[in-house]
Amino acid sequence: MGEVLKKHLKIGVLDLAARAPTRKMFSRIMRANLASIMPQIVGVWCEEAGHDVHFVCYTGSEDLLEELPSDIDVLFVSAFTRSAHLAYAISNLYQKQGTITVLGGPHARCYPEDAQKYYDYVLGITDKQLVHDLLQDCSQQRPYGVALSALRQPAFLPSVEERWRFISATLDKTPTRLKIVPMIGSLGCPYSCSFCIDSVIDYQPLEFDQIREDLKFIRRNMKNPMVGWHDPNFGVRMDDYMSAIEEAAPNASVPFIAESSLSLLSEKNVKRLGKAGCVATLPGIESWYGMGNKSGTGSRQGDEKVLQVSDHINMILRHIPYVQTNFVLGLDSDEGAEPFELTKKFISLTPGAFPESSVFIQIYDDIHVG
Ligand code: SF4
Repeated sequence: MGEVLKKHLKIGVLDLAARAPTRKMFSRIMRANLASIMPQIVGVWCEEAGHDVHFVCYTGSEDLLEELPSDIDVLFVSAFTRSAHLAYAISNLYQKQGTITVLGGPHARCYPEDAQKYYDYVLGITDKQLVHDLLQDCSQQRPYGVALSALRQPAFLPSVEERWRFISATLDKTPTRLKIVPMIGSLGCPYSCSFCIDSVIDYQPLEFDQIREDLKFIRRNMKNPMVGWHDPNFGVRMDDYMSAIEEAAPNASVPFIAESSLSLLSEKNVKRLGKAGCVATLPGIESWYGMGNKSGTGSRQGDEKVLQVSDHINMILRHIPYVQTNFVLGLDSDEGAEPFELTKKFISLTPGAFPESSVFIQIYDDIHVG
């Protein structure tokens, strides 16, 4: 165990939106728009504790050694598992310089035991108290780091105004007018999909007044605003949410993207979403065999489920221009070629939907980008 740190700290916060250097057009336009919300929140909490924060969202085109100072006391990194190798390499580099390294985000939540081999601290559920306690009393933890987690998700999160310094620095990196502000209005999810880390977190809406204030702030400060809602399942409190958006951003003045389970996207809700400015939604279909509760298909399976889901998605496309349907291929219920054949049938019946899975992303990358 190393020496305990001084009280006024130089802190780095690194959001790994890309996993490696890249010059692809998609990355240049979209990586900054896909920035995570939690690194910005951690940045605010560190500043509130009186520390200096150097914030970087890595989009694949930066030289991280130039962007981040080398004499950082504590470095927070947020990473998905696809960026884990990069996150581990960065920790190694900074640990050698005496920096205390902290990993948060989906990879830390899903694989803490592995991440502890490379980081001094690995964070699960993270709130302001946990970050402040960590900064008051942190030291090198090697060769095996310490896993920390709060008991529950925070009840309040910093406003868009408080995060604005980090948001605008990130969105300045994207070269087009498409600039998506990350917002969140609820945590957790009432559904129980076995593959999802949000399924074990109780659903909890955040303050709707805060959402109104955030949207008003965005309208005052951006020319062509757009919001990406990071809620695991946007539609759970649909009426409350839509009332807040309609009041604070009337006439679709802040277009938005939201992820919602299909069962919550009735035609009444979809019409209201479209009218309020929803330009894209991402319902999870996941499987042609199970998870009928979240897709609203009950016990229907296989061909029957394909037909019902296809009708449903075609209805949504009449009101919302972009629909991405999410699939998980390779679940225990999948066998042989049938899941692929059913997905092919779904695509031909629903040509407007963009199907997303690790398999399809690779095909899309190869054909359209690579
Ligand atoms: S509905 Fe979506 S957010 Fe909720 S548990 Fe399932 S995958 Fe996770």
